[in-house]
Amino acid sequence: MLNSDSLRVYSAQSNNRIGTYFRSKEFDCTDGSPYTFVSTKLLSVLTLIRVKTNLPIYIMSGYRTPEYNSKIGGHIHSYHQAGMAADWTFGAKYNTVEELYLHIDDEYLHQTWLGGLGLYASRNFIHFDVQPRIDGKVKVWHG
Ligand SMILES: [Zn+2]
Repeated sequence: MLNSDSLRVYSAQSNNRIGTYFRSKEFDCTDGSPYTFVSTKLLSVLTLIRVKTNLPIYIMSGYRTPEYNSKIGGHIHSYHQAGMAADWTFGAKYNTVEELYLHIDDEYLHQTWLGGLGLYASRNFIHFDVQPRIDGKVKVWHG
């Protein structure tokens, strides 16, 4: 894999297909921002999980403007603001984040661009971001 990332910009509400499985509007900020940013590395990690599990991925939160991120209490340095993060779920088929996580192999994820992994059990979603790794490790937290 190339060690580079690039940010793609899309018009909000556009139905552009990005990669095989996603559309740019799935990553729109819900505050009405005219633009949506999506990192190619993030798209790559989400696509690998989609292919590995053969399950649809529902993006709950992708790009966020700094204003929107602040309004919803997001971390001040949230990678959502850079188009480098997504909160997602497989949907109603799974009851808990732990159940979701069973379908994701740590070793497998280590081979991807994943930099941050947040497990939000009470809200039943997983946060992926492609922040740079420190000491080669994926940063994991429970929300
Ligand atoms: Zn997130």
